[in-house]
Amino acid sequence: MSEQNLMEKIISLCKRRGFIFQSSEIYGGFSSCYDYGSLGVELKNNIKQEWWKEMTRFQENIVGLDSAIIMSPKIWEASGHLTAGFADELVECKKCHHRFRKDFLEKDKCPDCGGELTAPRKFNLMMKTFVGPVEDNASVAYLRAETCQGIYMNFMNVAQTMRLKFPFGIAQIGKAFRNEITPKDFIYRTREFEQMEMQWFCLPKDAEKFFDYWLGQRLNWYYKLGIKKENLKIYEVPKNELAHYAKRAVDILYKFSFGWKEIEGVHNRGDWDLSNHSKHSGQNLKYSLGQEQEPFYPHIIETSVGADRSLFAFLCDAYEEALGGRTETFESTKEKEIVLHLDKKLSPIKIAVLPLIKNKPELIKKAREVHQTLKPYFAIQYDEAGAIGRRYRRQDEIGTPFCLTIDFETLEKNDLTVRDRDTMKQERIKIDDLIDFLFSKII
Ligand code: ATP
Repeated sequence: MSEQNLMEKIISLCKRRGFIFQSSEIYGGFSSCYDYGSLGVELKNNIKQEWWKEMTRFQENIVGLDSAIIMSPKIWEASGHLTAGFADELVECKKCHHRFRKDFLEKDKCPDCGGELTAPRKFNLMMKTFVGPVEDNASVAYLRAETCQGIYMNFMNVAQTMRLKFPFGIAQIGKAFRNEITPKDFIYRTREFEQMEMQWFCLPKDAEKFFDYWLGQRLNWYYKLGIKKENLKIYEVPKNELAHYAKRAVDILYKFSFGWKEIEGVHNRGDWDLSNHSKHSGQNLKYSLGQEQEPFYPHIIETSVGADRSLFAFLCDAYEEALGGRTETFESTKEKEIVLHLDKKLSPIKIAVLPLIKNKPELIKKAREVHQTLKPYFAIQYDEAGAIGRRYRRQDEIGTPFCLTIDFETLEKNDLTVRDRDTMKQERIKIDDLIDFLFSKII
C-alpha cells in the first residue's frame, strides 16, 4: 500500500463508517473544519477519557479544570501571543496568489505554479472576535490559542481550594483555535482543534528532572494504548526554533504517511507565564512554601497533546488491510478486509450482538435479551442484517473487539460464542458469566 494511499483509505473509512465528516458539506465544505460522527465522537471521548484518567485520577497530585474559551484579551498580551511571538511567516505567490507558511517551503519558488514569492511578513495566528453589541477596538477578544492560559489564570484558585502539596499539576481538555496559514493533511492541522494539556508547577531547580520524567510518562501512555514503538520518536527542538515561552521543548512525533510529525509537545516554560501575568495584572502569583523560604515563581513543565492529532495517529496505527480476506469459520471470502486493531479501551463499540440467522424468532429473542443485559455496561451494537461473516467484517472495520454470536446451542445450553477481533478465535462462554468475562477483557 503506497503511503499516500493509506491516508486516502483512512479518510474514506472515516467518512464511510461515520468517524469523521467534512464540516458544512452541503455547502461545499468549510476549509479545514471537520465534524466527528457517531463513532468518531466515541473514539475521541475514549482517548480523552484515557488521558484524563492517566493525568488526574492515576496521579496523586494533579487535578482537573475547565476554563473559558474566551478570556480577557490582556492575557494574550501578557503571554506574548499578540506580539510577534505567536506569528508565522507568510509568503504569497505573485502569480497565482496562493499563500504559504515560509518554514514549510523547500524552495524559494511557488510550489503550485513555480511563480516568484513575496517577501515574508509576520502573520498572527490568534482568532479574533468581538464581544458585545459594538464592534470596536474596545470589544475585541480572542478565541484561546492554547488551553494552558486558563490554567495559569486559575493557578492560585486551584492551589488554595484544593490544598495541593507542592509540586502539583493542573490538567485541562478543551478546544483551541489558531488561524493557521496552511491547514492540511485531514485532521492533522486545522484551525479549530482540541488540546489535552497538563501543567506541572515545580521548584526551578527541579524543572529539568520533571521534564524528563513527564516525557517518559507521556511516551508510555502511547505505548500502553498500543501505538507501535517503531512509529513513535522524539525530537529535541533546537534552541533557535523554540517557541517564545519555552526554555526547552521535545516533540513526540508519529510516523504518518506524510512524514514524521508532531502529535505532542513537552515544554519547559520556566517562569515565563506566571511572572508575565504577575507583571501585567499587578497580582502576586509567587508561591510560598512557608515562612522560612522566599516566595518564588514556580517553573512550569507542560505536556500538550492534540486530541485530534493523536486520534489520527491511533487510527493510522490500528489500520490493517487484508487483501485476500481473513479466514472465517462461518464464511470464507476473497474480498478485501479492513481491521482496526484499536486498543479495546479506545474502540468506539466494544461489543456486537449477532443472532446467527435472522428468521428464527427464538434466536432473535435471546439475542435481544443479551443485548439489553449488556447495554448499561458497554458501548454495544445489535446487528441481524446479512450473512454472519459479513457482519463480523463490518465490526472488524470499526475496531469492535468482541462479537457475540447467538446460535441454536445457545437456546439449549445458555452459552454463546465470543469472537475475538484480532485472533478471530471463538470461545463458548456461559451467558451467566458474560459480564464478568467482558469486564476482565475490556477494562
Ligand atoms: P506545529 O509546529 O505543528 O504547528 P506547535 O508546535 O505549534 O505545532 P503546540 O503549540 O506545541 O504545537 O501545541 C501542542 C499540540 O497541540 C500539538 O502537538 C498538536 O498536537 C496540537 N496542535 C497544535 N496546533 C494544531 C493544529 N493547527 N491542528 C491540530 N492540532 C494542533
